[in-house]
Amino acid sequence: MPVEERTAPPDELDVLVIGAGFSGLYALYRLREMGRRVHLIDDAPDVGGVWFWNRYPGARCDIESVDYCYSFSDEIVQDWTWAERYPAQPEILRYLNFVADRLDLRRDASFRTRVESLTYDEAADRWVAVTDQGDQVIAGFVIMATGQLSKTQPPEIEGLEDFGGELYHTGQWPREGVDIAEKLVGVIGTGSSGVQVIPQLAKGAGHLYVFQRTAHYAIPANNKPLDPAFVADLKSRFGEYREQARHTPGGTHRVIGTQAASDVDPEAVREVFEGHWERGGPDILASYTDLRTDEAAAELAGDFVREKIRGLVEDPGTAEKLCPKGYPFGSKRLVLEIGYYDTFNRDNVTLVDVKADPISRITPNGVRTTDAEYPLDVLVLATGYDALTGALFEMDIKGVGGLTLREAWADGPQTYLGVATHGFPNMFFVAGAGSPSVLSNVVISIEQHVEWITDYIEYMRKNGRHRSEAGLEEQRAWVAEVNEIASHTLFFKGNSWYVGANVPGKPRVFSLYLGGVGRYRDICDEVAADGYRGFETT
Ligand code: FAD
Repeated sequence: MPVEERTAPPDELDVLVIGAGFSGLYALYRLREMGRRVHLIDDAPDVGGVWFWNRYPGARCDIESVDYCYSFSDEIVQDWTWAERYPAQPEILRYLNFVADRLDLRRDASFRTRVESLTYDEAADRWVAVTDQGDQVIAGFVIMATGQLSKTQPPEIEGLEDFGGELYHTGQWPREGVDIAEKLVGVIGTGSSGVQVIPQLAKGAGHLYVFQRTAHYAIPANNKPLDPAFVADLKSRFGEYREQARHTPGGTHRVIGTQAASDVDPEAVREVFEGHWERGGPDILASYTDLRTDEAAAELAGDFVREKIRGLVEDPGTAEKLCPKGYPFGSKRLVLEIGYYDTFNRDNVTLVDVKADPISRITPNGVRTTDAEYPLDVLVLATGYDALTGALFEMDIKGVGGLTLREAWADGPQTYLGVATHGFPNMFFVAGAGSPSVLSNVVISIEQHVEWITDYIEYMRKNGRHRSEAGLEEQRAWVAEVNEIASHTLFFKGNSWYVGANVPGKPRVFSLYLGGVGRYRDICDEVAADGYRGFETT
């Protein structure tokens, strides 16, 4: 049941978990089962993580529901039934509430509590956490389940604070909803959240102005209710179904092509793309082996999508503006759409190309571009997140010798296996930089990390160890491996949040492990089997 009152955390713990999304909930459960004194803290009023905060109309996952879920409890697998192929935010939030209730997780959680600082006490090998509620918590280990996309990134546009109407970021959507009936609504941003929210806002708004800087490649989701027979069949063999996904590149059951598009007759490539367009979903990206590495191959997919857009959008000028150009297909996050392109055939929707006609400032009345002024009642910022490091850097984290995490990662995240960083002993990261993270089915990556980290904590206890630090050489080698794999891809050409390009001043580094979740799991398992090689422990 939802919590109305904040409970203060205990003063001393074996493990402090920060974050109550998929990661934190599972970490809490697993450590409690292991008999550890563990407690979870989140600044949200309740469980859910990003699925608590992102309540904007149209918010939806682009991994299929039957894959985007926990597998650790057969009871949960059997007793929960997904309704849609791609679950919408309310369904995912209901699921996480169901899990929290079933496992009685809230009794060890403090909500409405923000961890403001974490300081490593070298004499005692303990972390000291201080919260905005005045709590001080001492913990042997800290698990950073603080999320990859939990810190919203507003745009840096002059005058934003002067706007006199209602201003919302999609990542902090009000719980009570937003009334847009007959209002003049503007949306800035046309990435994943923008493409999801725009069709929904268009249905209710008096007029919707879409301010687009970069057009994204969007593929139909072809979302649909799930066939109960299909779900029952999966439940009857879920263990085996999930085990297969654990050994794939992305942690899903997507169909993976084995040929390079450049080796295949263009007509045949087109047919394959058509099949994916009909079925919907992101699998088109995996249909050929070279779509993420060879620009000419990526261009085949890019041309295909542009042709589709020109067929879907009636006004040729608008269609042209919506056609992504100047960066390879797949080098930014591929977006799934439901009715997005059709939205621009509505009379109450106007697309404003702010690359051609830049926003000069936000005024008390609306948005002013070089050429025009757009009066607005409501302005929606669908401008994304300060990914991977945003939530971590918001805290004042001090490790060995008082070094801050911000200083240690000034040139980009430095991790060993993505789970730990040198200079910050007994601190573990879940599904963040240095791991497959947001380029995988994140829930499968979360389960793998939580199991690996908690097993390691248990291993240390059994072996009488109380301090673990990632070795510097091993960390350098891991960062080099992550970079080496990424250097063979087109991601840098995308200039996206994957490389920090959406946050002014953020170092342009690509810090996700692209070797695939299967290979990544094997490496982590080998390290564990070898006595957690690469960690210095005492
Ligand atoms: P989160 O869900 O981000 O939870 C982190 C929690 O930590 C938050 O509640 C936050 O309030 C809390 N927190 C952070 N800092 C502090 C602090 N200092 N003190 C206290 N609390 C703190 N992933 C996919 O695999 N497929 C998808 O299709 C997909 N779609 C997404 C769509 C959206 C709109 C968003 C935002 C994310 C999406 N993701 C998707 C990624 C998603 O982040 C992960 O799938 C997953 O939900 C992350 O869970 P988590 O528990 O690791 O972190």
